[in-house]
Amino acid sequence: MKRLNGDAITIVQEIKKWRSSLANEKGVPEKLVTEIIQAVKRDGDVALRAFTKRFDQVDSPSFRVSEKEMEQALNRIDEKLLIALQKAKENIWCYHERQKRQSYIDAEQPGVIRGQLIRPLEVVGVYVPGGTASYPSSVLMNVIPAKIAGVKRIILVTPPHKEGVNPAVLAAATIAGVDEVYCVGGAQAIAALAYGTASIPKVDKIVGPGNEYVALAKRAVYGIVDIDMHAGPSEIIVVADETANPAFIAADLLSQAEHDTKSMAVCVTTSRDIANELEEQLISQIEHLPRKEIAKQALEQYGAIIVVPTVQAAIDVANELSPEHLELHVQDPIQYLHAVKHAGSIFLGPYTPEALGDYMAGPNHVLPTSGTARFSSPLSVDDFIKKSSFLSYSKDALQEVNEAICLIAETEGLHAHAQAITIRFQEEEEKEDGK
Ligand code: NAD
Repeated sequence: MKRLNGDAITIVQEIKKWRSSLANEKGVPEKLVTEIIQAVKRDGDVALRAFTKRFDQVDSPSFRVSEKEMEQALNRIDEKLLIALQKAKENIWCYHERQKRQSYIDAEQPGVIRGQLIRPLEVVGVYVPGGTASYPSSVLMNVIPAKIAGVKRIILVTPPHKEGVNPAVLAAATIAGVDEVYCVGGAQAIAALAYGTASIPKVDKIVGPGNEYVALAKRAVYGIVDIDMHAGPSEIIVVADETANPAFIAADLLSQAEHDTKSMAVCVTTSRDIANELEEQLISQIEHLPRKEIAKQALEQYGAIIVVPTVQAAIDVANELSPEHLELHVQDPIQYLHAVKHAGSIFLGPYTPEALGDYMAGPNHVLPTSGTARFSSPLSVDDFIKKSSFLSYSKDALQEVNEAICLIAETEGLHAHAQAITIRFQEEEEKEDGK
């Protein structure tokens, strides 16, 4: 864990440098991802089977998980886990339901009707990672906003394993209301969703996190289908004053660092004592974690404790970095909410750890990373709808704007546009002239 002192601008520049070095890292060969996508587009299921055998060591006669298997999964998981998933579903549903938008119609001007239609996407593909771990929470967070939006067909894909799909993932899929589950992963799964194969339907949008193969493939098929976002490594910034509890902060930083060796975990505090105690807490708490090697690497490379003079200065650092997760461990945190300009999700007070939001509270855990909270938002019902505008003008209403439209159209040199208006009144003008 680095200790960074000095002025906030220099510190922010330093952290931004780590970030850009991450973005420039050449990990996954883009050429391979392109080849996988092209092969699936060309050869469909034959290519899917070959890649599944090569990368997942599974020889699948069929990719579809049967309805019976889906139902059985509900009985295969621990009853307490089932109840916890159902409770999480209720909270996520309740939170997202308020995001629903209504179509509207405006008929205030005489002879004019204008409006906006809200329509759900028809088919959505949800990628649920499953290479090294399983994520039932990802199922709930990605599927529930789509259900609320009214998406008709939700397809879930997840990597196959010799022993079958993780039952917690299948149970979460049933609880959330997924229509079909297919065991296929990596770039090949993304290609199948984007182009469709004999067994896997083509979708309109792909959402869900995954490793670099998945992320690169999603980026490559954007335009053929829509995608949610390009997710980078997870991040947290904790802002702490002298009232904060260093043990809580350490636990929250570690909960981020255990995700990935590239996760960023930063505490910006106004107190040197808190900074010192936090360092001690990190050293002692990390030892008890099964994923301590991942967390250690993340903290060494992308972890920092920064001391600044005021809470406002700490929030300025956070705003500049625009983190995915921001925790405020300060007295009366709600009074600082207005000062936060850029953050994916904000956690107020010592009893609101990020882990609460990851699983249970209701807000979505799919959040903008790598500073993109400056211009983008958490996954929501909006991601699964689209809007169409509609118009109806009476003859009189069109006549009223006839001249203005023609003036603008002719200024743009688009005379056919002007003609499309004037032709509608030509007969009358001729009659008038003939009188
Ligand atoms: P994954 O499902 O993303 O990837 C597994 C697939 O990668 C395999 O099915 C295989 O087809 C493909 N693959 C593996 N090695 C390959 C190779 N050498 N060449 C071509 N393809 C190959 O699962 P994962 O690997 O466990 O990664 C999950 C990722 O998702 C992690 O980075 C994790 O941090 C992230 N995640 C993010 C969130 C979030 O909300 N942001 C949530 C859960 C997981």
